[in-house]
Amino acid sequence: MKTIALASGKGGAGKTSVAAALGAAFGLQGINADCDVDAANGAIALGARIMSSEDYWAGEGYAINASACSSCGACALACRFDAIARTASAYAIDEALCERCGACVDLCPSGAVLAHDKLGGALYVSKTRWDSTLVHAELVPGEDTSGKLVRAVRQRAEAIAAAANPPIEAIIIDAPPGIGCPVIASLSGVDLTVVVIEAGSSGVRDAARLFELLSGMKRAAIAVINKAGIDAYWDAQARGLAEAWNAPLIAVLPWDKRFRLSTERGEAWFHSPDVFVAGQARSLYSAVRSAAAL
Ligand code: SF4
Ligand code: SF4
Repeated sequence: MKTIALASGKGGAGKTSVAAALGAAFGLQGINADCDVDAANGAIALGARIMSSEDYWAGEGYAINASACSSCGACALACRFDAIARTASAYAIDEALCERCGACVDLCPSGAVLAHDKLGGALYVSKTRWDSTLVHAELVPGEDTSGKLVRAVRQRAEAIAAAANPPIEAIIIDAPPGIGCPVIASLSGVDLTVVVIEAGSSGVRDAARLFELLSGMKRAAIAVINKAGIDAYWDAQARGLAEAWNAPLIAVLPWDKRFRLSTERGEAWFHSPDVFVAGQARSLYSAVRSAAAL
């Protein structure tokens, strides 16, 4: 079994559409893991229905017990994140601002600051329109442990794959945009990363930052150029970028409204009745299989 990640450095480059197309192509021999936990859209792209869900606990949060608080203000003075403010009756913590350093717990002379388990979101196991499995998640707005939730999504997908019969050929990871902690959690240990380069100024710049990250992580990468044909200069820049980072270019997808229409119809490209779109998805699938040595 191989773990194949789709990443782009920026949002809107098309990695979710490519991940959905690959998931549809692998069918029951594939599992999709949507690790873009801040804005998980894989379920929409794959027409998924939720089969099970569970709470995701993000670790400790803090709250002030108003009846024990003497309103001395020591915690508010100590908090470096301005997360504690006085209310009419006592002091209170704004959980959206709290960085959970725990200083207020240590400093409170009255023992009024209490730790509690903090709900960080939910983890879902769903079935796609084609009955393959999608693992995805949803982070509570403002929650900052997205890397931990990404790990939970990956571990659940790996556990399902290990128990599957017939065997799973590939876990297809849809990584978040950017180059931060949740992206690193999505790409660590994968067998192959497919970098989707949007042929435009921000797409090329952000993909360059991603290649730099992948190089540091010593992860193998191949490249797909998406939305090509709008500007020859940026098409050439995207090609040059892949070449500069020794990432074999396996597909150049044109800016064509037929892809968009297929996506809106929920066909994941591979099942499109449009022969052009379905043909592009088949070629992409075949090239990714080959690059992953499947
Ligand atoms: S845990 Fe740290 S960041 Fe949160 S309220 Fe207390 S002092 Fe502020
Ligand atoms: S340090 Fe404790 S007693 Fe003082 S304001 Fe904060 S919570 Fe209340």
